[in-house]
Amino acid sequence: MAEIEIKGVAKQFGAFKALHSIDLTIADQEFMVLLGASGCGKTTLLRIIAGLETPSEGEIRIGGRRVDHLPPRSRGIAMVFQNYAIFPHLTVFENIAFGLRMQKQPEDEIRRRVTRTAEMMHIDPLLKRYSGQLSGGQRQRVAVARALAMEPDVILMDEPLSNLDALLRLEMRTELKGILAQSKTTTIYVTHDQVEAMSLADRISVMHKGRIIQAAPPTEVYAHPAARFVGSFIGNPPMNFLQATWVSPGKWMVAGMVFDGPGGEAVKSVEFAIRPEDVRPVAEGGIACDVRVVEPLGPHLLVTCDVQGQLFRAVIDNDVSVQAGETILLTPLVDRIRWFDPETQAAIT
Ligand code: ATP
Repeated sequence: MAEIEIKGVAKQFGAFKALHSIDLTIADQEFMVLLGASGCGKTTLLRIIAGLETPSEGEIRIGGRRVDHLPPRSRGIAMVFQNYAIFPHLTVFENIAFGLRMQKQPEDEIRRRVTRTAEMMHIDPLLKRYSGQLSGGQRQRVAVARALAMEPDVILMDEPLSNLDALLRLEMRTELKGILAQSKTTTIYVTHDQVEAMSLADRISVMHKGRIIQAAPPTEVYAHPAARFVGSFIGNPPMNFLQATWVSPGKWMVAGMVFDGPGGEAVKSVEFAIRPEDVRPVAEGGIACDVRVVEPLGPHLLVTCDVQGQLFRAVIDNDVSVQAGETILLTPLVDRIRWFDPETQAAIT
């Protein structure tokens, strides 16, 4: 069992707080993605779990065993770094075999595992090459193969596909998902690519400024953002937000339309939110949108509008005739409307 428990982990770099008291449990064999913008603390958290960085506060347990005072090699994990950390003077074979030799595995076992993982990562024709002669994408795959060859209980990966071209990246993503599902590994995977996060993760932890804002399955993070930030970060284009004014208990006026929304005495102000793909053009009775720009996206149109001075984007079918300068009426799918507290930025459910 390789459950990973992170309790109250904080990290201070001088006066700067890179992580604020992180609590997160990753289940045995779970694929957890840490997703967030550059600088939000993803790599720092991964390095702390790996033992390459010491937390300023908090505890880390792997499989129930406290590890935060153990050196990296005693934590039972394999890692793939952003800069790959492979040895240019060794062949691809020896790079993949490196950890297995350290573990003093028998030669035939080393050969078996190196060949198998090299095949999985499509680098078997390169096994005799010196790693210094490889492209960035090939080196990145060597780094992934080396980690997989260890058959670890826990694997930590920091943007392992970032250097591959779009097609290879897609292929490797599918491959990795299959390999890791079979291998029963617990995985923590850092990326700032939300499509990669959505496709790979059992759960996504969305990070912002050193905190985890929401940790949930991809569909949940997408459909029910726990906070305004999550809605604005996940989804391309991001969620739309519009001001709402109180009409009567549970009724709110949004850009000239009245919607059922949060009721109760405590709710004084709310913000209305809807995803661009969750609106439909109508002939009457919708939100009036002054169209600024229309961009064809294959099967859809991305329509960027002005709604009473607020930016609003819609993704609609490309058979609708719409041009810049027109005013169109859009109606939101009511079950997709979300509400946020403008003060705390938290979702109101
Ligand atoms: P990226 O996607 O760009 O790799 P990240 O989310 O992984 O970003 P981190 O590398 O964890 O971000 O960095 C989090 C913050 O901590 C950043 O503001 C960074 O500048 C700062 N930081 C990281 N390492 C150090 C260090 N050794 N000393 C001082 N500040 C640091």
